[in-house]
Amino acid sequence: MTPCDAIIVGGGIVGLATARALTMVRPGMEILVLEKEQQVGQHQTGHNSGVLHSGLYYPPGSHKATLCVRGRREMLDYCDSQSIAVNVSGKLVIASRRSELDRLDQLRRNGEANGLQGLVRLGPAGISQFEPSATGLGALFVPETGVVDYGEVAVRLATTPGVEVRRSEEVVAIKPTSGSVEVATTAGHHAASVLINCAGLYSDRVARLAGLEPSIRIVPFRGEYYTLATRAAHQVRSLIYPVPDPRFPFLGVHLTRRIDGVVEVGPNAVVALGREHYRGHRPDWREGLDVLRYAGARRLARRYWRPGLAELVRSRLKPIYARSVRRLVPGIAAADLEQGGAGVRAQAVKPDGSLVDDFVFMEGPRSLHVLNAPSPAATAALAIGRTIAERATLTLGEP
Ligand SMILES: Cc1cc2nc3c(=O)[nH]c(=O)nc-3n(C[C@H](O)[C@H](O)[C@H](O)COP(=O)(O)OP(=O)(O)OC[C@H]3O[C@@H](n4cnc5c(N)ncnc54)[C@H](O)[C@@H]3O)c2cc1C
Repeated sequence: MTPCDAIIVGGGIVGLATARALTMVRPGMEILVLEKEQQVGQHQTGHNSGVLHSGLYYPPGSHKATLCVRGRREMLDYCDSQSIAVNVSGKLVIASRRSELDRLDQLRRNGEANGLQGLVRLGPAGISQFEPSATGLGALFVPETGVVDYGEVAVRLATTPGVEVRRSEEVVAIKPTSGSVEVATTAGHHAASVLINCAGLYSDRVARLAGLEPSIRIVPFRGEYYTLATRAAHQVRSLIYPVPDPRFPFLGVHLTRRIDGVVEVGPNAVVALGREHYRGHRPDWREGLDVLRYAGARRLARRYWRPGLAELVRSRLKPIYARSVRRLVPGIAAADLEQGGAGVRAQAVKPDGSLVDDFVFMEGPRSLHVLNAPSPAATAALAIGRTIAERATLTLGEP
């Protein structure tokens, strides 16, 4: 078997962006993307809010901050070059409690430190200029936030010249040897000079297949959405967010007018019974038990059982969910919330039960692994891809 230059495990937006970056960093390379589903972008990439994040929240200097800001610009250029629709309509982060006003100012300083342009701090009267149906004690307008369909971006990335995407091929074994890495899939065998793991919800498992022992583990969290009934959708012009609680940054109900015009409400975050446990799918008890066996997940549950339970209750009782929405847009009733889709987040958890916030990359023999790529990794995908491609060429050495 003649090895190709690089095998990428996972045809999500991160894997495909990495494949494209490799073609740019070293033209002429042979690149193979192995995807277990029949089509690319079927998991996190195709089940998210579609928000092109600006970089407002992330600590300056973190991978998230630098790669989100760079990646957002690259995503805008890529979509422009491919005629993929993007709407940079801006978002409003609204404080509904006095205690949130200080955090709004902190967010503004944080955003400015990350290089965001045009942030506008608003009083209660200013909110209605941007979102006439929303209310609050104050707000921050973030003009650089937008929306795009990342599933569409992934499908387009899969057509990058020089990249071969094999669908319906699940990687089941990886064996690094002295000069290459051998890969067995459900459909055959391949070999490459370097393997890049972009397997999202299964990234820790694939790293273990490659002989690594990452200390973190993926714990799946399902994010469920409602959509706003057409009669109520006019109450949301673009994106309306609450001030995030720094302890649980991915909690809090958001309202997002997607690129197709539908207004989505959510997502919430409830522990999923299985890494691909979408709403309406049967739970995977084996995977659920596997999560429970991980001490980090048990510690996480002990530490956060109270907000976790509140999320679960809110997920089951629509009137409670609607109450959180009304804090931002009072005219929305429980009857206006119609069941929408769901996505499962790959959230890396440390053995001490803490959530890993930043992107995590790890190197092994002839392999590179993206072990934690939560939001805003779709926004940042092209910049993440370039970072990994540059590291991969170091592994490959001179052409
Ligand atoms: C509910 C939700 C909302 C989000 N909202 C946003 C947002 O608004 N903006 C934003 O920037 N980010 C958002 N994110 C985060 C973003 O979607 C992800 O960070 C991003 O899609 C990660 O891409 P990925 O390629 O790493 O993972 P994935 O898209 O999950 O791709 C991994 C791929 O690997 C494949 N795979 C796994 N194991 C194997 C194997 N053994 N062999 C072959 N293939 C394998 C899978 O089938 C999958 O296609 C959100 C995520 C969720 C879940």
